Amino acid sequence: MTGIVTQSLESLRGVGPKLAEKLRSYGITSVEDLLFHLPLRYQDRTRVTPLGALQDGAEVVIEGEIALVSVTGGGRRRSLLVKLQDGTGLATLRFFHFSQAQKNALQTGDSLRCFGTVRRRPGQQPELIHPEYRRAAWDSADEDTLTPIYPGTEGISQSQWRKLCSQALALLRATPPREFLSGDEASYSLVDALQFLHAPPPEADQNALREGRHPAQLRLATEELVAHQLSLRELRRQNRERPAPVLTDAADLLTPFLAGLPFEPTRAQSRVMQEIRADLEQAKPMLRLVQGDVGSGKTVVAAAAALLAIGSGYQVAVMAPTELLAEQHRRNFAQWFDALTIEQAWLAGSVKGRRREETLAAIADGSARLIIGTHALFQEGVNFQRLGLVIVDEQHRFGVHQRLALSEKSGDGQRAHQLIMTATPIPRTLSMVAYADLDCSVIDELPPGRQPVTTVLIDNQRRGEVIDRVANACRQGRQVYWVCTLIEDSDALQAQAAESTFEELVAALEGIPVALVHGRMKAREKDSVMSAFKAGDFQLLVATTVIEVGVDVPNATLMIIENPERLGLAQLHQLRGRVGRGSDASHCVLLYQAPLGAHSRARLQVMRESNDGFYIAEEDLRQRGPGEVLGTRQTGLLEFRVARLPEHEHLLDQVDVIANRLEQGENETVQALVRRWTGDRQAFATV
Ligand code: ADP
Ligand code: MG
Repeated sequence: MTGIVTQSLESLRGVGPKLAEKLRSYGITSVEDLLFHLPLRYQDRTRVTPLGALQDGAEVVIEGEIALVSVTGGGRRRSLLVKLQDGTGLATLRFFHFSQAQKNALQTGDSLRCFGTVRRRPGQQPELIHPEYRRAAWDSADEDTLTPIYPGTEGISQSQWRKLCSQALALLRATPPREFLSGDEASYSLVDALQFLHAPPPEADQNALREGRHPAQLRLATEELVAHQLSLRELRRQNRERPAPVLTDAADLLTPFLAGLPFEPTRAQSRVMQEIRADLEQAKPMLRLVQGDVGSGKTVVAAAAALLAIGSGYQVAVMAPTELLAEQHRRNFAQWFDALTIEQAWLAGSVKGRRREETLAAIADGSARLIIGTHALFQEGVNFQRLGLVIVDEQHRFGVHQRLALSEKSGDGQRAHQLIMTATPIPRTLSMVAYADLDCSVIDELPPGRQPVTTVLIDNQRRGEVIDRVANACRQGRQVYWVCTLIEDSDALQAQAAESTFEELVAALEGIPVALVHGRMKAREKDSVMSAFKAGDFQLLVATTVIEVGVDVPNATLMIIENPERLGLAQLHQLRGRVGRGSDASHCVLLYQAPLGAHSRARLQVMRESNDGFYIAEEDLRQRGPGEVLGTRQTGLLEFRVARLPEHEHLLDQVDVIANRLEQGENETVQALVRRWTGDRQAFATV
């Protein structure tokens, strides 16, 4: 194909090998890529704002005559003040760093034109701090479009970006790229949309641009979402082309398992078990995501699925993201599977030496039927005899590629079925976009008798009262979690914070057995602390966020979360889900550090108002964006160039229709579209 798609960057003026290399580090390898490197925002340098009309926070061009030049303050607070007047009002330019020569060059009566951000305190004159300025009036046709500000500041200046992109725009008009959307699917052509976004006319609606709802942005977002959708569908298609074992529970393990449970499965659990069963009976690999709020009982559903595989003579791998969680699964499964005399194995990073070799041998010769562990399960040297099903817990922490790597392990040329479970309810929007390669089941019901957790916000200044409350709960025979959080993702610092809180609480709560668990402890130690807490040997557990998911102690009815303002809502909901697991009323205290900004307060109010994981996840998505919510920032899975979620949710129906149309057509078209938007980041992963 000709045109800008393949045209090399070096063909642009000013691009040598060095700049080309820098551009490559931004994922830009062709002129077309450059065109899709869109501005973050715009400045309006096309018109002069009268000094009398300056608004706080605005970025403006101003023009005026110097009325006064002075220096105020001393030492570090010394600053150069230049007062401008234009007949409509006054404004002050303030410079904290200036040279004598600079000062001398500014003479009363001279005209200046400046660009900067207005700071205007009530009742005071407007100020511009360190504005750009030029002497004398510029030609009034200084800029005729809004000025784009591009993302990416390392090694490439804004003026370089602008020069590169305007050359690319010239080429774009000369050799327009292929249009994938038809006229009635889009209000803008691709060329017009790109032209508009790189060089919007002065009257462009800047608010719409900022919020991503300008039609030119919607045009590109639609195409991007279509490309994304098509690439996931292709992944799914490829996955399903491979044969998978038919799993039917020939040995009838499910009946005794269900009969032995101390409870009836909820209707939602039964429904999801059925959905899984129907998938496993097919000779095509299942790829199913089970979403269920904390406490909805996903583990039982997973165990039922495992039994179908084991009952058909296959092995099952259960993988969790942390050792603590994997260990909890080990305990849960052991309690059910020992009774059915199913051989289980345990493999995590901490299993070493002879134990490891024995475990690996049992996995390879098939004597281990259920293998539980961390991602250590899928490392080199782990060979399954006949792997039929992989169960991944808390999958949002694994990327798409890891997901695929798992089922490569089946060992007999077939692809293992995959069941993925997440307690982070994924907003419907996101799951449509992020998991178009999966089927979804939702456990949308909690076991009977659960009571919603009552959540309160308390200022840390009232810490003493909170400690009294903990003491009371413990005296009544309850158990309590005290969760310490830190913004740094450092195990060491987290551990330190938890340790000092532990000491504080031990001193304050005489006679109450207090335990401590954090990420720096050995897996064994954590395990024994957790087991002891579960057994009731300790009444208070001081913990870092390692207890986030999975930990199940029904007698725990109170949770204190320190500095909740530092965590995302979905994470808080996960933490809070550790209480309210029995039939007694539970409480959660969000012990915040004052002062709490309006934004943080609004966020934490969401926790007070709702126990609904889906609602909270929607709010989290709104506030933090999809990368954070899914934990996929590192995997690049959801790094869109233009599309934004949930803002562009309303495009998804149309995206679906367009994707369907394109899928009916030439495969080459689909591939070209996917390549345009995902480049070498994803394209079609070879399965
Ligand atoms: P999660 O979905 O958060 O992983 P779990 O599987 O850990 O939830 O289940 C939470 C608790 O609820 C466990 O103690 C489990 O034994 C119990 N449970 C699961 N299903 C039911 C049910 N249908 N009725 C009563 N209790 C149940
Ligand atoms: Mg769980």
